[in-house]
Amino acid sequence: MWSVPPRTTIYAPGTNADSVTTVILGAGLTGCTLARLLADAGEEVTVLEAESRPGGLCQSFTSDGFTFDLGGSHIIFSRDREVLDWIRQVLGPNREERHRETRCWYRGIYVRYPFENGLGDLPPEDRFRCLDGFVRAVITEELAASRGATEPARHFLDWIQRTFGDGIAELYLIPYNEKIWKYPLDRMSAHWVDGRVPRPPLEDVLRSACGIPTEGYTHQAIFSYPAVGGIEALVKAIVAPVSDRVICDFRVSSVRREKEGFVISDGRREITADRCISTIPVQALLGMLAGVPESVREAGRRLVYNSVACVFIGLRGPVPPYSWVYLADPELGYANRISFPSNYSSHTAPEGCGSILAECTYRQNDPPASMSDGALIDHVLYHLEKMGILDREDVVFTGCTRQPFAYVVYDLEYRESIRVVRDHVERQGIELVGRFAEFEYLNMDGCIRHALDHVRRNGPCA
Ligand SMILES: Cc1cc2nc3c(=O)[nH]c(=O)nc-3n(C[C@H](O)[C@H](O)[C@H](O)COP(=O)(O)OP(=O)(O)OC[C@H]3O[C@@H](n4cnc5c(N)ncnc54)[C@H](O)[C@@H]3O)c2cc1C
Repeated sequence: MWSVPPRTTIYAPGTNADSVTTVILGAGLTGCTLARLLADAGEEVTVLEAESRPGGLCQSFTSDGFTFDLGGSHIIFSRDREVLDWIRQVLGPNREERHRETRCWYRGIYVRYPFENGLGDLPPEDRFRCLDGFVRAVITEELAASRGATEPARHFLDWIQRTFGDGIAELYLIPYNEKIWKYPLDRMSAHWVDGRVPRPPLEDVLRSACGIPTEGYTHQAIFSYPAVGGIEALVKAIVAPVSDRVICDFRVSSVRREKEGFVISDGRREITADRCISTIPVQALLGMLAGVPESVREAGRRLVYNSVACVFIGLRGPVPPYSWVYLADPELGYANRISFPSNYSSHTAPEGCGSILAECTYRQNDPPASMSDGALIDHVLYHLEKMGILDREDVVFTGCTRQPFAYVVYDLEYRESIRVVRDHVERQGIELVGRFAEFEYLNMDGCIRHALDHVRRNGPCA
């Protein structure tokens, strides 16, 4: 990493004014992957990052021997073989593999995940309600299909009810999804769940209800995690060969298109480039461009997202033997998920200790937005102690961080809003890649896939 004196026009390291250069805005996972792939293809790249180090949502920290991921608990998994192989090759030996042991907390019971594969863990009345609803939903859909009368789901709530039936919807999926998205489910689109959340085979649900173990979401059943350094170790490994191309503490505030190319500034320094790829949130990018029509700005304001507060807890003694646990019930406080990083690798907690990472998503007017970090830590500890997951006397470390951009929320206007915004930005010649640049629910594998495809499609700058 290198820095430059203020009020200067700068060129990519090792280049001059005449060189073909590409600037990438943002050094999260996507920006770092693009930089590496483009540099491998012979392109002169410079990455501009607002923070003091790369990583974005994939940053991690180690304190008092505990390693946590700053942007919420991250694991490595994918259906995409090429991407998974690439990640494994980049990480090399710094990787541990685990079998996913995930649960949904339901009235004091650890129910196997996904919930529909854990019905056997429920009390008999609830099990019957879920099974009855599921079987009715399957019959209804199959009848409709046989008459050629299948209709697309009207919204996300409709999709949940039609796919899983009333019991699973009411006992688990509705409260959980209301908790994570912080948005009315009947105002969310269903287009994004197709493929991401498969309808479980009837046989699996029946088996699980009878207490015969079945596995859902099998692409995630085995996951990996860096042995040392948390998920940031992945970004560090990706960016290592091009780290001298990353300028940190450069918060881009304007991007202008001029005769000589793109002029990108943080208000003190300017950099000129032939090509500009943005991986920063697209709404933020709109604010950096001049002459954006009001209709486009309005579409940008309509894009919905939520934020996440992460509460980190280090404990003397062990934690439950799970990877992570979903907390759907609002009575369990604001956390929607707790994970146990000390179960991800043998190096994430000191000997004899365990760790918990609680994620609380929120939007502007939700309580976590106005709570101090201390109050939120206290709130999480109170609920985890009440659930019997920890004893306050064993807590040896706490911390809290917040990520303003955590999840894209697909509301019913999403497809139109993003089309207007993308069309405008791309007409300016700016390329968009990444979770909040494309404004899509991309996991790490999706970001790497989009970076690979982008470089293959558009190649290095001519
Ligand atoms: C709670 C949570 C859990 C997750 N768990 C998983 C998981 O288990 N597995 C998985 O595969 N994925 C997971 N993800 C998704 C994963 O974090 C993202 O897919 C990935 O990190 C997105 O990378 P990105 O580079 O596109 O965006 P970001 O990480 O947001 O990077 C954008 C970068 O741009 C920089 N930036 C912003 N504004 C400016 C500016 N003005 N000037 C310069 N730089 C700027 C930011 O500082 C940041 O470094 C999770 C996400 C969340 C929120």
